[in-house]
Amino acid sequence: KYCRGGYMPIESKQIIRYNLEIVRKLGWGHFSTVWMAKNLTTDSFVAVKIIQSSPKYRMVSFKEISLLEHVKTTDPSHPGHKRIIFFYEYFFANSINGVHLCLTFELMGPSLLDLLVQSNHCGLEQPGVKKIITQVLLGLTYLHHTCQIIHTDLKPENILIKITNSYLNELIDCVNSFEARGLKKPKSYVTALEWNQNKNLFVEPEESEIFSILKKRVQSCPSKTEKPEFLKPVMAKFRKPLNMPLLVDPNIQVKIADLGNSCWESKRILPIQTEQYRALEVIIGADYSYPADIWSVACITFELCTGAFLFEPYTEENLYCIEYHLALIWKLLGGIPLNIARSGSRSSALINLDSENISFQKIGDILKEIYKWNDFNANSLEEFLESLLNPIPRIRPDAFDALNLKWLNN
Ligand code: ADP
Ligand code: MG
Repeated sequence: KYCRGGYMPIESKQIIRYNLEIVRKLGWGHFSTVWMAKNLTTDSFVAVKIIQSSPKYRMVSFKEISLLEHVKTTDPSHPGHKRIIFFYEYFFANSINGVHLCLTFELMGPSLLDLLVQSNHCGLEQPGVKKIITQVLLGLTYLHHTCQIIHTDLKPENILIKITNSYLNELIDCVNSFEARGLKKPKSYVTALEWNQNKNLFVEPEESEIFSILKKRVQSCPSKTEKPEFLKPVMAKFRKPLNMPLLVDPNIQVKIADLGNSCWESKRILPIQTEQYRALEVIIGADYSYPADIWSVACITFELCTGAFLFEPYTEENLYCIEYHLALIWKLLGGIPLNIARSGSRSSALINLDSENISFQKIGDILKEIYKWNDFNANSLEEFLESLLNPIPRIRPDAFDALNLKWLNN
């Protein structure tokens, strides 16, 4: 994708704008590559999201800018304001691949997906998860009720951890020492920094390592070898944890990032949401709104606690399967109310389910049996998740109500 209309080729030390010097790559996504850069005027660091140069991506990113501007200015005193990534400004940069829209943001640290990878997909300890989810919900009270924006793509990789000064120093040291040791720099446009929890610093991954991390995430998820047989009882495929959950820095601060897929509540878009985090109403093609984000929060909570996806709706060939997804939801919730089941344009998928044969498996039992949680912890998390996974979006708690649920407060 480093071609005409694609990503901008970049080297460290490159001056991307008169006062902005590229330090190194931080990450990438469908739309962009994201770089750490030094503002030479203020001697401070920012993150620059450099959009692919084709007009299609530029158009969508202009919408992201209008949403970000709205979020930035609507009510800076709202406690949820600081739970959304802070956007500074945008500019254009030229490359051999075309003209790239560039967005600058406050510099953040690793994402929650990085933390999950660090945990070896065993998950994070509960007090840490509660802190993280509280902050995410606080961000959503602002995004939803003050800004009238639906995020539509909440998932661990789009929630970023605030960088601390010691992180930042490690990060800079790491880049400098790499250069001082005269090590051959990997091609900067294929690598991203990897955060190493054990060493507590950012490390330079091998070129292939970023792909192996992604591969590992796919492999470590519930077994792919069994074919989902929708007409037979669905088996839960949760992986047993290998070791202890990761301890989370008690001062952890997170922010919701990537408004690249977000929309105004009044101008909803389709399709939305990454499959594993997709709400029931979106799956069946019914009307959706803010509650779709709340469903994703439930999926993220379970994943942070256990290291495994709550729903992993893929066939053996790694293809998304709507019937399988609905069967997994049915199994976990013990059914789907008929009126909601019939309300979508894809409701016919439910007809293919042999629901009589889907056995009910409560979340609490999964936590006890597979993850060896004690009764109290398992039951309180179950209560929280079942509330956020209410199949009727109208009854699902909104971000305010969710903040008051027992699990977050005990
Ligand atoms: P896309 O819309 O292309 O998915 P994102 O906004 O999600 O782009 O950014 C891609 C990745 O870059 C993120 O998953 C994260 O790893 C990294 N990233 C994005 N913004 C920042 C930031 N402000 N600070 C540090 N890293 C960031
Ligand atoms: Mg993204």
